[in-house]
Amino acid sequence: MFENLSERLSGVFERLTKQGSLSEEDVKAALREVRVALLEADVSLPVARKFVKDVQEKATGQAVTKSVTPGQQVVKIVHDELVEVLKGEGDPGDLKIDSPPAPILMVGLQGSGKTTTTAKIAKRLKDREGKRVLMASLDVNRPAAMEQLQILGQQVGVDTLPIVKGETPVQIAKRAKTQASLGGYDVYFLDTAGRLHIDQELIQQAADVRDVVQPRETLLVVDGLTGQVAVEVAEEFDDKIGVSGVVLTRMDGDGRGGAALSMRAVTGKPIRFVGTGEKVDALEEFDPERIAGRILG
Ligand code: GDP
Repeated sequence: MFENLSERLSGVFERLTKQGSLSEEDVKAALREVRVALLEADVSLPVARKFVKDVQEKATGQAVTKSVTPGQQVVKIVHDELVEVLKGEGDPGDLKIDSPPAPILMVGLQGSGKTTTTAKIAKRLKDREGKRVLMASLDVNRPAAMEQLQILGQQVGVDTLPIVKGETPVQIAKRAKTQASLGGYDVYFLDTAGRLHIDQELIQQAADVRDVVQPRETLLVVDGLTGQVAVEVAEEFDDKIGVSGVVLTRMDGDGRGGAALSMRAVTGKPIRFVGTGEKVDALEEFDPERIAGRILG
């Protein structure tokens, strides 16, 4: 479906004689192709533009190594720069869960994979770090969502807060906090309500819960296939609630993962994990090298 960037660039460079260093014209011609590749990978236009401009400044005048073609050299410069932008500080999988019980707030739009991801991360903490984990659903408008978390909890062997009808999200959050303290849990997840679009009520609910529990992490779950929309969602949630990290789901799909670059470039938030399937084990720590390779095709 996509043309490989290296192949494209070889076409551009066929006409150019090999010189000692990358000329401005060489770089410009190559970066036109890079820009198209980024847009095809669903990177947002302003991010693709800025990225290309930065790379242009870095690449122009660089000495061309004898063993590679100018095209290969530009691809390497682009790849390295992609990794640099995608990389956050520290280890992406390292969640701040000291001082138990540590609350983790999960936010995102309905259908983004929030509930599944909550169970996936909970399972990971239990299996890999031996943590005692509790999960609670705050989606009072969708009983099915509450039941879904309960079923996932049974599946992954993680406790869920018993469902009590008629409570508000804040009441549930308080009960989860108490239960987590009394029950000796290390971590508790609060799976907030999702909607199809961001609305004021949804944001207010999440903000109220945040104020009550003071989460150690607020993880935003976004569908990695939604590109531009994912970035808008991230900006809105970060602005109104404050996000400490992002999880991109559906990275097992056909998409090229451009949302990852836009997300990092626009929000500056670290991407912690990627969802790679429907199964409860289909979660990977974010790997900038791998995504950079995928964006370039
Ligand atoms: P929520 O409404 O945000 O809580 O979304 P759910 O957790 O209910 O997920 C919606 C659908 O997406 C479910 O069918 C999940 O199995 C599926 N899903 C979640 N994460 C992934 C993923 O990483 N890859 C794929 N292929 N499907 C996923």
